[in-house]
Amino acid sequence: MMTNKTQTCSICNQDFTGFGNNPSPFSGERCCDSCNEKFVIPLRIYEITKNKTSAVLFKTDGTVQSIKPKDKYFTLDELQALVGGLIELYPRRINGHLLVCNEEGLILNLKKNQIFFAYSEIQLVGNVLVCPEEIFEKPEEEDDE
Ligand SMILES: [Zn+2]
Repeated sequence: MMTNKTQTCSICNQDFTGFGNNPSPFSGERCCDSCNEKFVIPLRIYEITKNKTSAVLFKTDGTVQSIKPKDKYFTLDELQALVGGLIELYPRRINGHLLVCNEEGLILNLKKNQIFFAYSEIQLVGNVLVCPEEIFEKPEEEDDE
Protein backbone atom coordinates (compact mmCIF):
# COMPACT_ATOMS: atom_id res chain seq x y z
CA MET A 1 0.00 0.00 0.00
CA MET A 2 1.32 3.44 -0.90
CA THR A 3 -0.97 5.53 1.23
CA ASN A 4 1.69 8.14 1.89
CA LYS A 5 2.47 8.77 -1.72
CA THR A 6 2.08 12.41 -2.69
CA GLN A 7 -0.45 13.06 -5.43
CA THR A 8 -1.64 16.25 -7.08
CA CYS A 9 -5.31 17.09 -6.79
CA SER A 10 -6.88 17.36 -10.22
CA ILE A 11 -9.26 20.07 -9.00
CA CYS A 12 -7.20 22.50 -6.88
CA ASN A 13 -3.74 21.37 -8.08
CA GLN A 14 -2.45 21.14 -4.50
CA ASP A 15 -0.34 18.18 -3.45
CA PHE A 16 -1.87 15.82 -0.93
CA THR A 17 -1.09 12.45 0.62
CA GLY A 18 -3.39 9.51 1.09
CA PHE A 19 -5.73 7.65 -1.19
CA GLY A 20 -7.54 10.66 -2.58
CA ASN A 21 -10.95 10.40 -4.18
CA ASN A 22 -12.51 9.80 -7.55
CA PRO A 23 -13.33 13.34 -8.76
CA SER A 24 -16.10 12.28 -11.17
CA PRO A 25 -18.10 14.13 -12.53
CA PHE A 26 -15.05 16.46 -12.56
CA SER A 27 -12.32 15.40 -14.93
CA GLY A 28 -8.97 14.06 -13.78
CA GLU A 29 -7.67 11.09 -11.85
CA ARG A 30 -7.78 11.88 -8.13
CA CYS A 31 -8.79 14.79 -5.91
CA CYS A 32 -8.04 15.71 -2.30
CA ASP A 33 -10.46 15.18 0.58
CA SER A 34 -11.20 18.89 0.82
CA CYS A 35 -12.23 19.20 -2.82
CA ASN A 36 -14.18 15.99 -2.53
CA GLU A 37 -16.28 17.46 0.27
CA LYS A 38 -16.53 20.96 -1.13
CA PHE A 39 -17.12 20.27 -4.81
CA VAL A 40 -17.48 16.67 -5.85
CA ILE A 41 -20.18 15.58 -3.43
CA PRO A 42 -22.35 18.69 -3.81
CA LEU A 43 -22.17 18.36 -7.57
CA ARG A 44 -23.24 14.73 -7.41
CA ILE A 45 -26.12 15.74 -5.19
CA TYR A 46 -26.99 18.56 -7.55
CA GLU A 47 -27.11 16.13 -10.42
CA ILE A 48 -29.83 14.09 -8.77
CA THR A 49 -31.92 17.18 -8.20
CA LYS A 50 -32.23 17.45 -11.97
CA ASN A 51 -32.33 13.75 -12.66
CA LYS A 52 -35.11 12.12 -10.69
CA THR A 53 -34.21 8.59 -11.70
CA SER A 54 -31.42 7.97 -9.22
CA ALA A 55 -30.70 8.44 -5.54
CA VAL A 56 -27.44 9.15 -3.71
CA LEU A 57 -26.13 6.85 -1.00
CA PHE A 58 -23.87 8.33 1.69
CA LYS A 59 -21.98 5.48 3.33
CA THR A 60 -20.32 5.49 6.74
CA ASP A 61 -17.05 4.46 5.07
CA GLY A 62 -16.92 8.01 3.62
CA THR A 63 -17.96 7.14 0.09
CA VAL A 64 -20.88 8.53 -1.88
CA GLN A 65 -22.46 6.77 -4.81
CA SER A 66 -25.35 7.24 -7.15
CA ILE A 67 -27.87 4.40 -6.99
CA LYS A 68 -30.64 3.56 -9.42
CA PRO A 69 -33.54 1.27 -8.55
CA LYS A 70 -33.58 -1.97 -10.54
CA ASP A 71 -37.05 -1.11 -11.77
CA LYS A 72 -38.76 2.28 -11.86
CA TYR A 73 -39.11 2.46 -8.06
CA PHE A 74 -37.04 1.15 -5.18
CA THR A 75 -38.52 -1.89 -3.50
CA LEU A 76 -38.56 -2.23 0.27
CA ASP A 77 -35.95 -4.98 -0.04
CA GLU A 78 -33.62 -2.72 -2.01
CA LEU A 79 -34.02 0.13 0.49
CA GLN A 80 -33.38 -2.17 3.44
CA ALA A 81 -30.26 -3.54 1.79
CA LEU A 82 -28.92 -0.01 1.19
CA VAL A 83 -29.29 1.13 4.82
CA GLY A 84 -28.53 -2.30 6.26
CA GLY A 85 -31.79 -2.89 8.11
CA LEU A 86 -35.22 -1.46 8.74
CA ILE A 87 -35.81 1.84 6.99
CA GLU A 88 -36.86 5.11 8.58
CA LEU A 89 -37.72 8.36 6.84
CA TYR A 90 -35.97 11.26 8.51
CA PRO A 91 -38.48 14.08 9.16
CA ARG A 92 -36.63 16.56 6.94
CA ARG A 93 -35.91 16.75 3.25
CA ILE A 94 -33.01 18.04 1.18
CA ASN A 95 -34.00 19.79 -2.05
CA GLY A 96 -37.36 18.05 -1.69
CA HIS A 97 -35.76 14.62 -1.52
CA LEU A 98 -36.52 12.00 1.10
CA LEU A 99 -33.82 11.00 3.58
CA VAL A 100 -33.84 7.28 4.22
CA CYS A 101 -31.83 5.93 7.16
CA ASN A 102 -31.66 2.87 9.40
CA GLU A 103 -34.45 2.87 11.98
CA GLU A 104 -32.33 0.89 14.43
CA GLY A 105 -29.08 2.73 13.76
CA LEU A 106 -28.56 3.77 17.36
CA ILE A 107 -29.56 0.38 18.78
CA LEU A 108 -27.22 -1.35 16.34
CA ASN A 109 -24.49 1.14 17.28
CA LEU A 110 -23.80 2.06 13.66
CA LYS A 111 -21.06 4.57 12.92
CA LYS A 112 -21.81 8.29 12.67
CA ASN A 113 -22.16 9.27 9.04
CA GLN A 114 -19.50 11.99 8.78
CA ILE A 115 -19.71 12.46 5.04
CA PHE A 116 -23.46 13.00 5.20
CA PHE A 117 -22.94 15.45 8.08
CA ALA A 118 -20.36 17.34 6.01
CA TYR A 119 -22.98 17.75 3.32
CA SER A 120 -26.16 18.34 5.30
CA GLU A 121 -25.14 19.21 8.88
CA ILE A 122 -27.60 16.51 9.94
CA GLN A 123 -26.04 13.96 12.29
CA LEU A 124 -27.27 10.47 11.46
CA VAL A 125 -25.76 7.04 11.94
CA GLY A 126 -25.38 4.32 9.33
CA ASN A 127 -25.84 4.70 5.60
CA VAL A 128 -28.18 7.47 4.40
CA LEU A 129 -29.99 7.47 1.07
CA VAL A 130 -31.06 10.80 -0.42
CA CYS A 131 -33.93 9.67 -2.60
CA PRO A 132 -36.21 11.59 -4.99
CA GLU A 133 -39.81 10.95 -3.99
CA GLU A 134 -40.56 9.99 -7.59
CA ILE A 135 -38.61 6.74 -7.26
CA PHE A 136 -39.29 5.95 -3.60
CA GLU A 137 -41.46 2.84 -3.64
CA LYS A 138 -44.33 2.28 -5.98
CA PRO A 139 -47.42 4.32 -5.01
CA GLU A 140 -50.00 2.15 -3.28
CA GLU A 141 -52.97 1.26 -5.41
CA GLU A 142 -56.37 2.32 -4.22
CA ASP A 143 -58.06 -0.99 -3.56
CA ASP A 144 -61.10 0.08 -1.57
CA GLU A 145 -63.19 1.28 -4.46
ZN1 LIG B 1 -8.11 19.61 -4.02
